[in-house]
Amino acid sequence: MAELVVDVAVVGLGPGGEALATRLAQAGLAVAGVESRLVGGECPYYACVPTKAMIRAADVLAEARRVPDLAGTAQVTPDWGKVAARVRDEITADWDDRAAVDRLESAGVQVVRGRAKITEPGLLAVADRVVRARRGIVLNPGTDPAVPPVPGLADTPVWTNRDAVRATAVPESLVVIGGGPVGCEFAQVFARFGAAVTLLQSNDRLLPQDEPEAGALLAERFAAEDIRVRTGVKITSVRHDGERFTLELAAAEPITAAQVLVAAGRKSDLAELGIGAYGLDESARGVTVDEHMRAADGLWVIGDIAGRGAFTHMSMYQAAIAAADILGEENPGAEYHAVPRVTFTDPEIGSVGLTEAAARAAGLNVRTGFTPLSSSTRGFLHKADGLIKLVEDADQGVLVGATSVGPTGGEVLGALVLAVHARIPVDQLRRMIYAYPTFHRAIESALADLRA
Ligand SMILES: Cc1cc2nc3c(=O)[nH]c(=O)nc-3n(C[C@H](O)[C@H](O)[C@H](O)COP(=O)(O)OP(=O)(O)OC[C@H]3O[C@@H](n4cnc5c(N)ncnc54)[C@H](O)[C@@H]3O)c2cc1C
Repeated sequence: MAELVVDVAVVGLGPGGEALATRLAQAGLAVAGVESRLVGGECPYYACVPTKAMIRAADVLAEARRVPDLAGTAQVTPDWGKVAARVRDEITADWDDRAAVDRLESAGVQVVRGRAKITEPGLLAVADRVVRARRGIVLNPGTDPAVPPVPGLADTPVWTNRDAVRATAVPESLVVIGGGPVGCEFAQVFARFGAAVTLLQSNDRLLPQDEPEAGALLAERFAAEDIRVRTGVKITSVRHDGERFTLELAAAEPITAAQVLVAAGRKSDLAELGIGAYGLDESARGVTVDEHMRAADGLWVIGDIAGRGAFTHMSMYQAAIAAADILGEENPGAEYHAVPRVTFTDPEIGSVGLTEAAARAAGLNVRTGFTPLSSSTRGFLHKADGLIKLVEDADQGVLVGATSVGPTGGEVLGALVLAVHARIPVDQLRRMIYAYPTFHRAIESALADLRA
């Protein structure tokens, strides 16, 4: 069996794995990067990037539809063919990772194709090869779409995100299962391109990880765009007759649709990775790591499976920390009190840190501040839906969480991430000058509203 001996082997080249392998190779280590599918991982081929291209197109359509209200007549004919061609040609290079492989190889990383399994500490089996990692192994295997255990569902040709980004036509009707960020983003895109969309959510609201005000505002917008949202739903079975899907629901009429898209969470298979070789629990949902991303001596874990947020920015943040640790550089370790997240619906929903409920559950002395975006001049000018909500630890006089909803909610969030991350005193935030008339000026109104 051919043996490749390196200093560090990176298993899974998602955004973090790719960045970390590059960094270590540039620092002079011998690095192998093992990838079973596409170098770059989920984000550039099936997730963040293609979906945001689809959302950009859907937003352009929605803007054009609003033009008669604001400026006169406008005529735009939706053409999904253009969106599909852009995703295929410009965004994913037809799901070809040659450019990413070239980038890694020119940085000095040895790219090994195949599925890696740890057979003993520091040793990987990859098809008919063995990779020996003298200094250690970094795991960045990401997650796969989970299909809930609803009778019949797995036997039908449902879409996951990996199929939806490759869609060459918009189905006439679409049921989206899941009201988290992924489900909400896809629901709005396909609805704006003409699908009759029904979103089924088992929870009692959209975006349950975010402030309830954000989910409620999005539900209002969805209703205005004829997206049917059914919350608190239990699907009892799904079948497909060769043409249409039928979903049976508990205590409600069945629903039929031309297509079903499952956006109901992610799964990972730790046994397949062989982490038991390090004495770690293979039946767990994720891997527990310390603040330097160490799961065991000589084993680092980054990205979705480290369980601190399934985001590309998290994978890359953790990659930088693990790389510093492997290179023996001074680094304070990971901090998670100001993790930002953005759902790129319209309106865009950005959040950082703790929600009000989480802050109260943590026993903090909470004050909240709220303002609708429509009461800001820019919000009024844009006829924009949105809000700012702030969560303050009143004992410390600092923000511990914030939500920004609006046409550029994720961009406005930047100022709030800084405030939470750097623990800037609220008194100081109140003394800042906020440019007029910007969306971010609404932060000043929300600060003025802070109360118990
Ligand atoms: C539809 C959708 C939209 C999203 N949008 C956003 C967004 O806008 N912003 C954001 O921050 N996040 C977004 N995410 C989340 C984001 O895609 C992930 O958090 C991100 O890809 C980071 O994942 P990761 O680094 O853990 O690994 P991944 O990107 O999942 O990559 C892991 C890689 O490891 C490989 N691999 C797995 N096991 C092995 C093995 N045993 N051997 C070899 N290779 C292996 C896989 O093939 C894969 O290529 C979105 C997710 C989805 C599904």
